[in-house]
Amino acid sequence: MTKKSKINFSTKKKSKINFRSNKKNKINFVSNKKNKINFGSNKKKRKVDIKQLSLILVVFLVIVFMGVKVVGATTSYIEDKREEKILMQQKSEAKRLAEEKKRKEEEAKKRMIGVNHEAKKNAYDALEVANKLKNHNYSNNGEKIVFLTFDDGASTTVTPQILDVLKANGVNATFFVTGRNIERGGVKAKELIKRSFDEGNSIANHSYSHDYKILYPQGTVDLEKFTKDFKKTDDMLKDIISPYFSTRVIRCPGGHMSWKGMDVLETYLKEHNMASIDWNAINGDAQGKKKNANELLERTKKTSKGKEMVVLLMHDTYGKEETVKALPQIIQYFKDNGYEFKTLA
Ligand SMILES: [Zn+2]
Repeated sequence: MTKKSKINFSTKKKSKINFRSNKKNKINFVSNKKNKINFGSNKKKRKVDIKQLSLILVVFLVIVFMGVKVVGATTSYIEDKREEKILMQQKSEAKRLAEEKKRKEEEAKKRMIGVNHEAKKNAYDALEVANKLKNHNYSNNGEKIVFLTFDDGASTTVTPQILDVLKANGVNATFFVTGRNIERGGVKAKELIKRSFDEGNSIANHSYSHDYKILYPQGTVDLEKFTKDFKKTDDMLKDIISPYFSTRVIRCPGGHMSWKGMDVLETYLKEHNMASIDWNAINGDAQGKKKNANELLERTKKTSKGKEMVVLLMHDTYGKEETVKALPQIIQYFKDNGYEFKTLA
């Protein structure tokens, strides 16, 4: 019994062992479980890691997204600002150019010296011509130039026909007008002055009165009366053409060459950068007996012969219809002989 019991004991022992074994197993099991738990713990940890990583990733993406947004917004803000600045610069540049253009136009208007802006290409330096005439030097470096000049206009009968002939032949002339004749012709004469200027002709001053007694008492120039008389016409021309119009080209009634005491006038003209223009050829429409168109042409040929620079004196006042008739042939004659048509300004 005891033995059995022993055995039992032993069995018990065995059982114990078994138990132990079991325990061991249990332990093993536990251990396994532990492993399992460990294993489970790792899984949990990894799960946590993934969650954390995901969170970090999301946060990171949000930051990146926000960053991109912010950078984008900042860039577009900077770009907008830059564009705004460029636009402002362009606007201010356009404004500056517009102002400069306006200023230049004003300047151009102010510089209307006898001819309009467009007609300047055909204009010739009147001071140079005045000097050549004074010195009887009619050469021009081999280039032939002719200045068609008409005195004592405007007339409402002859001037429009002269303008028609000039236009039809594509040439321009210089008109030495008198204020008294403009007044005589009224609105029509003023319109002719404006038309003449607009068509590219040069408008020059030939005094207001054309009265020798006023301008040259006892044959000697009276500078004060002379300049006052010329100023009257200049003011009329400003009124007709433009407030900015002014001509520095004058022709003394009767001719600069005909009067005494002209040194004071010379000094005055020099101080004011003005040119007094006489002539070196005539068609003869105011000299001697009345001539027909053919005689006027012949007189022109005779007096201009051999001169490279021709300043031809003619008249567009009342009664000069023969000059109108002769003019197309006179123009043709100079064209055939290689002359360029210039205006004085
Ligand atoms: Zn005259």
